[in-house]
Amino acid sequence: MKKFLTLLVCAAIFLHCSKPEVQSNKLLVGASIAPLADFVKQIGGDHVDVFTIVPPGANPHAFELTPGIMKKLNQTDLLVFNGAGLEFWLDNVVDNLKGKKATFTSDGLDIKDDEHQGHHDGNPHVWLNPQNAIHQVKKIYFALADVDPQNKATYESNAALYIKHLEIVDQDIQQTVDTWTQKKFVCFHPAWAYFADRYGLEMVGVIEKRAGMEQSPRDIAEIIQTVQDIGAKAIFVEAQFPSHVAEMIAAESNIKVVPLDPLGGSKNLTSYVDLMRYNVAQMTKVMKE
Ligand SMILES: [Zn+2]
Repeated sequence: MKKFLTLLVCAAIFLHCSKPEVQSNKLLVGASIAPLADFVKQIGGDHVDVFTIVPPGANPHAFELTPGIMKKLNQTDLLVFNGAGLEFWLDNVVDNLKGKKATFTSDGLDIKDDEHQGHHDGNPHVWLNPQNAIHQVKKIYFALADVDPQNKATYESNAALYIKHLEIVDQDIQQTVDTWTQKKFVCFHPAWAYFADRYGLEMVGVIEKRAGMEQSPRDIAEIIQTVQDIGAKAIFVEAQFPSHVAEMIAAESNIKVVPLDPLGGSKNLTSYVDLMRYNVAQMTKVMKE
């Protein structure tokens, strides 16, 4: 028995030791949120291993970095961030990540200047406009080509192909939105500002402007009024932000609560394109006569 155990331990050590060698050809990339991780996969293909820092289903505005995640960040060849305040938790650990290659993919985009969920760098949800996503894809391509110039040609052709795909998705969404009779909406948290801008929609009411903000009876009455004024059939909520207030307003106004997902990463919505199509399908249910 003892011999057998020893054998097992040796085998385990052998496996453990040989594993990094097998993986050493691939770049290890950490991306803060699921859409960015998907962009890395699309461009990097077989040359990268990517993990998502903020787990699917978690609220990125309330994310806390653990020592375990910190350790993993330090093992990466490249870190891919959104920027615009989404990775507010970086401020505390920036010294520990000195020397790490990182790209902030929203750099160069126009960031909406709202005090978003109590963070002061504006509204970070740029990726929900596919044209912004294309900008982020380009940023990731440049970063990958910089870290791994040997595979630059592959990254370049993958990025070009994926951008074409995103252009088609963008046009499809516009065509769908053009069929909507309702162009205004009320949502729980202002994730859809860039999306609205892109497709000629208007986000006329937001329930929670800042994280954990208590809505006063007056705020609630105002939202109910807005819902009536625009003839909304639903309030859009998000899995990451459960809201009793949204439920209450919807019940009061006799309309639906329709879940959207600005982040994805769950089993059914691993890709950015699926995520966009899911959200548009959800919205279409209540925005079209
Ligand atoms: Zn947000």
